[in-house]
Amino acid sequence: MTTQTTTAPDARTDRPARTDRPARTERPARTPGQRRQVGRKRGEGQWALGYREPLNANEQQKKDDNPLNVRARIINIYAKQGFASIDPGDLRGRFRWMGLYTQRKPGIDGGKTGSLEPEELEDSYFMLRVRIDGGALSTEQLRVIAGISSDFARGSADITDRQNIQLHWVRIEDVPEIWRRLEEVGLHTTEACGDCPRVVIGSPVAGIAADEIINGQPAVDEIRAKYIGSPEFSNLPRKFKTSISGHPSQDVVPELNDISFVGVRHPQYGPGFDLWVGGGLSTNPMLAQRLGAFVPLAEVPEVWAGVTSIFRDYGYRRLRGRARMKFLVADWGTEKFRQVLEDEYLHRKLIDGPKPETPVSTGDHVGVHRQHDGRNYVGFNTSAGRVSGDILARAAEIAEAHGSQRLRTTPMQKLLVLDVDDAEVEGLIADFAELGLSANRKAWQRSVLACTGIEFCKLAIVETKAQAVRVADELEQRLGELDSPITVHLNGCPNSCARVQTADIGLKGQLVTGPGGNQVPGYQVHLGGGLGLDAGFGRKLRGHKVTADELPDYIERVAKAYLADRLDGERFAQ
Ligand code: SF4
Repeated sequence: MTTQTTTAPDARTDRPARTDRPARTERPARTPGQRRQVGRKRGEGQWALGYREPLNANEQQKKDDNPLNVRARIINIYAKQGFASIDPGDLRGRFRWMGLYTQRKPGIDGGKTGSLEPEELEDSYFMLRVRIDGGALSTEQLRVIAGISSDFARGSADITDRQNIQLHWVRIEDVPEIWRRLEEVGLHTTEACGDCPRVVIGSPVAGIAADEIINGQPAVDEIRAKYIGSPEFSNLPRKFKTSISGHPSQDVVPELNDISFVGVRHPQYGPGFDLWVGGGLSTNPMLAQRLGAFVPLAEVPEVWAGVTSIFRDYGYRRLRGRARMKFLVADWGTEKFRQVLEDEYLHRKLIDGPKPETPVSTGDHVGVHRQHDGRNYVGFNTSAGRVSGDILARAAEIAEAHGSQRLRTTPMQKLLVLDVDDAEVEGLIADFAELGLSANRKAWQRSVLACTGIEFCKLAIVETKAQAVRVADELEQRLGELDSPITVHLNGCPNSCARVQTADIGLKGQLVTGPGGNQVPGYQVHLGGGLGLDAGFGRKLRGHKVTADELPDYIERVAKAYLADRLDGERFAQ
């Protein structure tokens, strides 16, 4: 096993991939492994095989200075001297390890996204991502985030599809005070972005749901405490996503994480986790693969560290496009991956384990649900994650007024209030409705999910959040309530932050030909993707593109066709 070195700072399944049906793409999905020949003779930049010299600018930057060191420079230099003082290598590289990205300059057309220099595209304001491992928040913590939003982020706040809360319009001068306030209540932004272990997503109902298999939150907390912000894992080949859920609905999109611990009951050892590796979307999407290993709760952090170490040491670093762990898993296969994990990192054998049962529900937790202690948790829809400082402050206040001090964010951009007595449920729902957050399981609002889009993202080509709100509102009016949700995911560019390939209707932002023959904002459509029971990638229909203006009409047509033709109980993805 190799370990990371850095120079001193300068001054400054067998599831989930379905075997009974090919991935539903225009042509058979190419697995990451199928591109292995490119450049293989020169090596893939794997540290464990001796490729220690950085083979691209990103690797060089990480070697030049451990990105975690940028925190001190932000506090001691940049926040005092202002935006212009920031070293470009920090600004466009290491800042991400502190959850900071420059946001897109307002008013820049999506058609110019790929052609402008970074300094032409970026604003002097930042997006700041607050990491919320497991989505677990106290009302006090939520109030602090709300206060930061109001005081330093023009009231902005988005719940992301990885349980974080993202703020915008942040000035570098305010970052130290923001961190001070967050850290005072046990929150931080460290490694919220960057080539490192991102937020650990966990079941939003860990430790509370009556139907839970096992509570994974202790493992989430231990990983966060031991390994996040540690130099041991601060230089990975690329981002590394983790999910842990012991809920039968597998409510953390485990198919799409680099490593997932999925709740299962072992006939001999009782409740624990099934280990999956190698999931990821964007180009060459791949669903995570089972290693066939059972991991007891107490061993999750150790196994997590072993898998993360494999990625650090054997992950491909030469080409950014091949640096996610899915490429290594595809090339090695699960048998070799498990063997290397056992022989080189754990120095013991893992227990063979059973396959988890396939979930039948979406696990977004909207509506009222029973806790194991007899109280309730209530899940609320948001408008594609868009909230505000005021809404979050009021949400904390209302939750407390109804006897709760705990909330959770979810990977479906929902907000949960825990520990609600029967007598308080109705009042809580009525008060949240005034904030625009409904607990209605039949609302179109439940179905939409959207990434950041052109409003703030420098890679975006089209708008997403307002479009998602418009779609939900229009379809609510035109079609009324939905007895079975049709998921609609919107991405602002060809990346897949909003998981378009796994939605019933996935919309990938791009310029399309408008009615007058000119290029206008629109979307490439993917149809019939899903997770859980319907795990598979949506079909990208050639030439099936829709302009942004036509989007509600298009979704209305697709939804009507499905509703008219479906057989009893038939889901959209079937
Ligand atoms: Fe930005 Fe594209 Fe990701 Fe949306 S999908 S947040 S536009 S990079």
